[in-house]
Amino acid sequence: MSDIAANIDRIRAKLGDRVTLIAVTKTVEPERIAEALDAGVTICGESKVQEAKAKIALVSSRARWHFIGHLQTNKVRDAVELFEMIHSVDSVKLAAEINKWADRLGKTMPVLLEINVSGEGSKFGMKPEDLPAALAEMNKLPRVEVRGLMTIPPAGKDARPFFRKLRELRDAHGLPELSMGMTHDYEVAVEEGATMVRIGTGIFGERKRNEPTE
Ligand SMILES: *Cc1c(COP(=O)(O)O)cnc(C)c1O
Repeated sequence: MSDIAANIDRIRAKLGDRVTLIAVTKTVEPERIAEALDAGVTICGESKVQEAKAKIALVSSRARWHFIGHLQTNKVRDAVELFEMIHSVDSVKLAAEINKWADRLGKTMPVLLEINVSGEGSKFGMKPEDLPAALAEMNKLPRVEVRGLMTIPPAGKDARPFFRKLRELRDAHGLPELSMGMTHDYEVAVEEGATMVRIGTGIFGERKRNEPTE
C-alpha cells in the first residue's frame, strides 16, 4: 500500500462514516491525486482557482471539487463552473456575484460561510456578529444555497473553543454543515461536531511550497 493510501485509511478510521473527508490537493501533482482517488477519496479541496482549473482538466470526472481558498470576484465565474461547493464565502457581495454566475450557468451553488471566530489571525472571514444580517441577505439570492459554516482557527492556539463557537453559531441558524479541522486539529474538530474536515499534509505529506491563498 502506498503512503497516501495508508494515510487515508488511518484518517478515515478516525472519522467514521458521518464525517466527510476533503483531501486538500493544493500543490499536489495529478498522479498523486489519482493515488488518493484510488484509495477511496471522492472530494478534493483546492484553494486557487487557476491551479484547480489546470488540475481538474487532468483528473476531471474521477473527483468532485470543493473550493476552500479566498475567492476574488474576478474568479467567481470559473469557481462556479468548476466546483461543487464553495467553503469560503465571506461577504454578501461575493455571494451576490456567485448568485449572478450560477444563474447564468443554470445552476444552484451550495456554499459555506467562512467565519473568523477568534477575531484574530486570518484576515478573511466574517465576524460572528455580522452573520445574522448576512444570512438574511443571502437567503434572498435564489441561486445560492447556504449549507453551513467554515472556519480556520488562529495558529498556535487550542482550536477547541473556536470549533465549539462555530458549532454554536451553526446550531443557532439551523444549518447542516460544519467545515472545520485540518491535519493538526481534525480530531478535535470531529469531537466538536465537524461534518467535513479538510486534510492535506496528513494525506500527501508536507507541501514543498507554502503559498498564501489568493
Ligand atoms: C491548505 C488548507 C487546508 C489543509 O491544511 P493541512 O494542514 O495541510 O491539512 C485546509 N483548509 C484550508 C482552507 C487550506 O487552505
